[in-house]
Amino acid sequence: MPRHVLSRWNVGTRFAAFSLVLMLLVQAAIYVVMRANIDNKVLQQARTDLVTGEAMWQHLLSRNAKLLGQGAEAASHDFSLRSALWTGDADTQSALLAIHGAAANAAVTAVFDSQFVLQATGVERHAQGAFALELQGVAKDFGVSQAAYQLQAIDSKLYQFVLFPVTDTLWSGWILMGMPLESTLADQMLTLSGVHIAVRDSDHKILFSSLSPDSFTALSSMQRSGEVALEHATYMLKISESVETGKGLTTLVMRSMDEVAAPYDKLHRPTLLIVGISLILFAFGSVWLGQGLTVPLRMLAEAAEQFSRGNYAVNLPALQYRDEVGELSRALDHMRNSVQSQQHAIMELAYRDRLTGLPNRTQFRDLIQQSIHVNKAGSDGVHVLTVIMLNLDRFKSVNDALGYAFGDQLLKAVAGRLATQMTQGQATLARLGGDEFGILVEAQDANAAMAIAQGIAIAFEVPLKLDDQTVDLSAGMGLASWPQHALDVDMLLSRAEIAMRLAKQQITGIQIYDPALDSSSAQNLCLLSDLRQALENAELRLYLQPKLTLSDNTVVAAEALLRWQHPVRGSVPPADFIPFAEQTGFVRQLTLWIFEEVAKALPRLHADGRPLRVAINLSTRDLLDHDFPAKLEALMHRHNAAPQDFCLEITESAIMDDPLRAQATLNHLSARGFKLSIDDFGTGYSSLAYLKRLPVNELKIDKSFVMGMENDESDAKIVRSTIDLAHNLGLSVVAEGVENQAILDKLVELQCDEAQGYFMSKPIPLPDFIAWRAKHLATQAT
Ligand code: C2E
Ligand code: CA
Ligand code: CA
Repeated sequence: MPRHVLSRWNVGTRFAAFSLVLMLLVQAAIYVVMRANIDNKVLQQARTDLVTGEAMWQHLLSRNAKLLGQGAEAASHDFSLRSALWTGDADTQSALLAIHGAAANAAVTAVFDSQFVLQATGVERHAQGAFALELQGVAKDFGVSQAAYQLQAIDSKLYQFVLFPVTDTLWSGWILMGMPLESTLADQMLTLSGVHIAVRDSDHKILFSSLSPDSFTALSSMQRSGEVALEHATYMLKISESVETGKGLTTLVMRSMDEVAAPYDKLHRPTLLIVGISLILFAFGSVWLGQGLTVPLRMLAEAAEQFSRGNYAVNLPALQYRDEVGELSRALDHMRNSVQSQQHAIMELAYRDRLTGLPNRTQFRDLIQQSIHVNKAGSDGVHVLTVIMLNLDRFKSVNDALGYAFGDQLLKAVAGRLATQMTQGQATLARLGGDEFGILVEAQDANAAMAIAQGIAIAFEVPLKLDDQTVDLSAGMGLASWPQHALDVDMLLSRAEIAMRLAKQQITGIQIYDPALDSSSAQNLCLLSDLRQALENAELRLYLQPKLTLSDNTVVAAEALLRWQHPVRGSVPPADFIPFAEQTGFVRQLTLWIFEEVAKALPRLHADGRPLRVAINLSTRDLLDHDFPAKLEALMHRHNAAPQDFCLEITESAIMDDPLRAQATLNHLSARGFKLSIDDFGTGYSSLAYLKRLPVNELKIDKSFVMGMENDESDAKIVRSTIDLAHNLGLSVVAEGVENQAILDKLVELQCDEAQGYFMSKPIPLPDFIAWRAKHLATQAT
């Protein structure tokens, strides 16, 4: 059978079929050998029986012959018969022969002279005609053969004859005695040896047989010894032509093969029965064994399939068995457990933040997506989904300064503190990576999220104590809501992030997403291309605002500020495009532009022989730009400008975004001879430790404190302490936002070094500035 057909059967069926076929083959082989053996035995037995039968036949004939011979001998000694023979008294001869014939049981008696001429017969009828001739022939044959007896058919009847000599001085001759062979003799022989006998004459006519006359026709045509079919049965036949038995006669002995085989056949049946039963038992046995194998195997295969679909709650068969199936089952069980635990671990890795145990960004995103999906369906009322994205301030510096282990602990503590604030609506906290956390708030409106954000801001006011260290916490938080600000999860996350970045830049703490602030919004993309055009179409203007030295009332410095004269919108204030330019990175081009403008203007500003140092505002982007110092170098070289003519204003937040890199850039610039100033001082979170390390020369107190110091005592305190702090650190102090005389006076009193503000002058175009400075000099002279 081809393999592909076999492989369609299950193992159990194959096993059963194979064993059965094997069993059948073995049984058949045994049967064939046994059968051949039996047939051989039967054949041999039949042949032996035939030999025995033949001998028996000879024996019976011999016995008959002896009896006849004795009768004949008795007759030969009879004196009366002898004298009748001598006298030739035929009647007496006949009468005496009849008496002796009857005594010897011979049906035929006759006397012959020495020349074998018939003298008399016991039966009158035998003395004439054909019968007499036949007797004459028999007697003559005896004379030739001198056999003990002779068979001869007369009138289709088979006779056995014996011839006995009579020797007398007066007469010598022969006495013949014969008897017909009766079927009883054949029957006797059959009973004794089981062999049938038949005698055939030269015309193949059956003269005598133990078989029924029906078979005579067939018998008469038999030519050769061997197996023959007679009367629906098989016989082993032996044909023998023996001279002594009689002229032209053939003896056929036959043994019924069925009879010889009968005892074997008797064995045959039970054997077949045993074979049959054993085959059936074997079939059941192998099917049972096969099932015992295939049923659990099939169950195991099904279980494995279930596992592959992620269903692990399947009962495994044969777990307690000690056989191979049990082993396989246990192996599968083991595999299930380890796959399950691996899957669990993978899920944990994929969806959980390892440090805090909070959901990670992936899971957070999934959660938002699900919530959007549920609320879109709106089955239980539509909620507002707000994402609060929170980014810790200065985390990088904490990490750098106190080590990563501490940073990790800090993040855990922050996560713990944030968790306490999930009080409104349905809020989920997640760690999105690094120092960034996300909170999904599902509530009736966005106010709940705002309340959480404010709660966090308040909670962060309490410094965190960790390992004897006190860490001030602060963070930028950006809020964006579905469906107001975004319609899908990615948009929602990116808008919350934009808001968060803005919150950090503007140090507002919490910022709700506003398309106007979004550099990626369509309106702002338009603005970006406008800004590019502004640069190309010379729509930008350089404005200068003087810085007054308070000790001697001179103007030796000014701040360069950017103005955009939009052809349609008119004058665009820097607050409307600088934050956006910072987000997109375009601010770097603006910085270079203003540097270029200032460098170009320097000769005119120095024209009256009095040097002027111009302050230029740098953004985070500039500080993080590796090439910035080189670009600056090239520019200065081109315009033959000196670093001493510049002051670079940097905000605290710009430094804190990446303190190490910022510091490297600042070190570089300072080494080149640029003066460095910390802008908007007081609004950021720079630590004293940092200030001390940075190569700065100047602090610029933010205008919000300066403007407020007139009326707000705490602002005044800040201004005062900032001035003291700066002086203690060896730095000069500039106050910006001086709008009136009173403030100016106060600053003089506090020994502030420089002042800048509308009171002196608003930022004005270069020619105006030159004019203003000339005027200022003149008033100073007077
Ligand atoms: P800033 O660096 O703090 O610049 C000082 C701002 O205070 C200027 O606003 C100036 O006009 C304003 N100011 C000066 N004196 C007074 C006063 O007495 N009262 C009031 N109320 N304001 C006063 P401006 O020019 O609108 O610039 C706003 C911000 O835009 C600047 O703040 C600076 O951060 C940014 N900016 C302006 N030009 C540039 C630039 O060229 N590059 C960069 N990176 N930033 C620039
Ligand atoms: Ca400034
Ligand atoms: Ca400022």
